[in-house]
Amino acid sequence: MLVTLKEILKIANEKKCACGSFNTPNMASIKAVIGAAEEMNEPVIIMHAQVHEEMGVCKMSEIAPVMLNMADKAKVPVCVHLDHGTDLGYVKKALEIGFTSVMYDGSELETLMNYVNTTVTVKLAEKTGASVEAEIGSMGKREGGGGDGTSIYTDPDEAKDFAEKTGIDALACAFGTAHGMYLKKPKLDFNRLAEINSKVSIPLVMHGGSGVSPEDYTRAIKCGIRKINYYTYMANAGGRAVERLFKKTYYHDIEKVAIEAMKEDAKIAINVFSGQNRSL
Ligand SMILES: [Zn+2]
Repeated sequence: MLVTLKEILKIANEKKCACGSFNTPNMASIKAVIGAAEEMNEPVIIMHAQVHEEMGVCKMSEIAPVMLNMADKAKVPVCVHLDHGTDLGYVKKALEIGFTSVMYDGSELETLMNYVNTTVTVKLAEKTGASVEAEIGSMGKREGGGGDGTSIYTDPDEAKDFAEKTGIDALACAFGTAHGMYLKKPKLDFNRLAEINSKVSIPLVMHGGSGVSPEDYTRAIKCGIRKINYYTYMANAGGRAVERLFKKTYYHDIEKVAIEAMKEDAKIAINVFSGQNRSL
């Protein structure tokens, strides 16, 4: 069932847990993530990242119809979300295609421009009923990997002002996580996160979820995190699972093994985020 981010975050808020949010740049990962969510009986968010189009991984115009179709047919609520839309034209295109949620990322711009463009995104999304996530502070380079030293932690007062003035539905904040593989163990600033949560009334989003320990996820959820972006380790699990198959098999067999491995990884993540803590 296709739903908006707002609807999914309402469920997460009621259950005081976080919803897993996974990048799905190909059919295999869409199948893996939706399959995992169905087996865990939890809502899920699948995302197309603008940077994946820039890197030549997949085009939004090609992958979005597949994401929307599979979300629609899923047995659990699924939100189709644009991850890190950095230009308004691209965000507008996503809304026209039917994304039920978009993230506008103006975190690398001057603060005023971030306010202006985020407000424009909220107005555009109102027309289609989609939800909006935005970011204040910066998690550093989008593909910089762990701890490249360019992140600016989110200021709690600025976060409050930004959320109120722009009218967004979810706020991504920087408190020590980073995108990609962590080069060293992440140190998260939970005091800052708790303070942001006490000042901001909308759900908070954690980016760079791969590689964070289960204890830290749980603590972050207690401090108001309701959406956790997770991709790198899942994609890596798929890659590692097929390594030994390359020489002796057909591509469809490789894909099957990758889907299974990514599904298992996504299930483990959803198990922690949802607070089910089943023995899988
Ligand atoms: Zn991110």
